[in-house]
Amino acid sequence: MPQPPDAVALPPYSGPDTDCLKCGATGASAQHRPARGPVVLPWNPEVLVDGPRPERIARRCRDCGYQWDEAPLDAAAKDLGAVAETGGGA
Ligand SMILES: [Zn+2]
Repeated sequence: MPQPPDAVALPPYSGPDTDCLKCGATGASAQHRPARGPVVLPWNPEVLVDGPRPERIARRCRDCGYQWDEAPLDAAAKDLGAVAETGGGA
């Protein structure tokens, strides 16, 4: 199973007038999402629903609805420290 990307691996925030990778339309909404741990089934913590995610900006194309994540502008400095502490990708 692929590991979730580190915030430093996400592309940087591209601004409000970014072009959608799928349909080429200009303009995507942006919503801040804080970092979170893994998501498991409430009734069965052994079942992983989604892996941990770094702090990110969730982008959504206004035309086709394609969604992708970008790194917050201040992510690099914070996450470089976090990667050093965890060894980066365990
Ligand atoms: Zn699109």
